[in-house]
Amino acid sequence: MVHLSLEELYKEVILDHYRDPRNKGRLDPHDVALERNNPLCGDEIELFLKFEGDDVTGIAFEGKGCSISQASASMMTEKVQGLPAKDARELAESIKRMMAGEEEGNADALGDLVSLKGVVKYPVRIKCALLSWNTLLEALDEASEKS
Ligand code: ZN
Repeated sequence: MVHLSLEELYKEVILDHYRDPRNKGRLDPHDVALERNNPLCGDEIELFLKFEGDDVTGIAFEGKGCSISQASASMMTEKVQGLPAKDARELAESIKRMMAGEEEGNADALGDLVSLKGVVKYPVRIKCALLSWNTLLEALDEASEKS
């Protein structure tokens, strides 16, 4: 059996989402579409959200950039799909705290997302990891203003 260190395991998860992104592509129809970028690294994300009531019933993204930015977006769409907007917002805030080193991150609750923790020691990559989450928070704000 091949033994992987935690850091190697995190890398594997990130590469898996980068090579085989989930929910990539436009989502039509959608309620909110928002494009943001991270000029430090050249990462781009366009996020699409669809709601039924307060629940996120559809989420997809277009984007290009480094493996961390794209894998983070892919993992985010998997996790946020079906969540009430309030829970999606809490999840995003919790990821931001984890990336700021303020929170350990509960592996059971976060699933693959816990692999983003591997990035915490590379400060320049934290912006890559958080691009999709900051875009999500903005998109949720936009959605709540509309309704
Ligand atoms: Zn990047």
